[in-house]
Amino acid sequence: MSDHYQIVTFVGVDEEDLATAAKQTMQFLLDRKYRGEPIASEPPPEERLRAWFVATGLDEAAIEEQLAKARKRLTGRAAFVSGDNAGEAVEGGAPPSRSATPAFGIELRLGWEVHGDVNVEYVGTCPSCNARTHELRLWEGPLAKAAARIEDDADAELSCPECGTEHPLRSWSFAPPLWVSAMALRFGNWGPLTNRFIEDLERASGSPVRLTSETV
Ligand SMILES: [Zn+2]
Repeated sequence: MSDHYQIVTFVGVDEEDLATAAKQTMQFLLDRKYRGEPIASEPPPEERLRAWFVATGLDEAAIEEQLAKARKRLTGRAAFVSGDNAGEAVEGGAPPSRSATPAFGIELRLGWEVHGDVNVEYVGTCPSCNARTHELRLWEGPLAKAAARIEDDADAELSCPECGTEHPLRSWSFAPPLWVSAMALRFGNWGPLTNRFIEDLERASGSPVRLTSETV
C-alpha cells in the first residue's frame, strides 16, 4: 500500500520568522485539537539508509555526508497523530486518529527543502523568458542538483536551457506543483483538506501557503 501526503508549504516564511511561524502554527493545531499525541521519535537513519547509499556507489566520505544531512533532517521534523477534531479539517471522512507511524499523522518540517513528488516528472517555467523545460526530475539532472543544494542555500539556482540565465529554484514555477519552503506540514493519508482549513493555516502562520502532494 502506498502512502499519500498532502503537503502544505509556507512560502512566505523566511529563516527569521521560522521559529515564530512554527510556534503559532503548532499552537493553532493544538488549540483546535487537530493535533494529537507526538509520535515516538524515529531511530537514527544509519541502519535504514547506509545500505542504500552503498548500493548507489557513494564512497565512505559521501555516505557520511549524506547520513549527517539525514540526521539533521530528522531533528528538523516533528510528527503527531491526528487529534480529536481532525475530521473538521477534511472534506468528508476523517483521517485515522491513532497510528504508530507518521504516515497517518501530521508532520512538521523545518528547514529549507524542496517539496514535491520524487516519482514525478516536472515541467519548469523560466522566470525570465517563460520557456518551459520538460522532463525535470528530482532524482537526477539539473533539478535534482539544485534541490540537493537547497538545504544549505535557499537560493540555489537552476539554469534555463533556452535563455541561459540562472535563477533561484524557488523563483521558477513548476507543473505539477513543486515548492521550496523553510516550513511545511505533511498530512499523511488524510482526505482532501478544506479551503477553510488552509485559510486558517495562513492566518495562524502569517504566511501564504501553496499545496503539493507526494505518494510514496
Ligand atoms: Zn529562460
